[in-house]
Amino acid sequence: MGLEQQIRSQILTSILEKFVNWARKSSVWPATFGLACCAIEMICTAANRFDIARFGMEAFRASPRQADLMIVAGTVTKKMLPAVVRIYEQMPEPKWVIAMGACACSGGIFRSYAVVQGIDRYLPVDVYVPGCPPRPEALLYGILKLHDKILKDPFLTRKEGPVVVNPEAAQSF
Ligand code: SF4
Repeated sequence: MGLEQQIRSQILTSILEKFVNWARKSSVWPATFGLACCAIEMICTAANRFDIARFGMEAFRASPRQADLMIVAGTVTKKMLPAVVRIYEQMPEPKWVIAMGACACSGGIFRSYAVVQGIDRYLPVDVYVPGCPPRPEALLYGILKLHDKILKDPFLTRKEGPVVVNPEAAQSF
């Protein structure tokens, strides 16, 4: 392939990549499920006051096969873990994971044999939203961070590491 052709194909690929990532970040569909108290804040984020629909995300899907975002909201018990992993496996690529709350990030207050000490031991977490529970503003801030990440995703492969939401930055959001 000549130099001119190479440059042209790279420009085309990068324009296509930007367009695809813009489309992906504009309509991320979360899977419908919650695990504990954090899920109440997630539900609240979808209600009219915080209005997740502003970000093209109002379509919480009942089937994981139609979802591309898993918000792990709440305590993950060892008993529940296989179901959580199964839901993730059923979601088509590309897919993303937000760990919402101290429990999902690290086990939170539950230093127990029965509780998973961080869902990142089993799933590739993209954004961590700490707090017990994090407020809807913090989740929205985490979602915006995820959008930034999706915009920078390589077209075919995902290489970027996780993002940790700073609670203070989230407060000012
Ligand atoms: Fe409940 Fe706190 Fe754990 Fe969230 S982080 S599930 S609010 S105990």
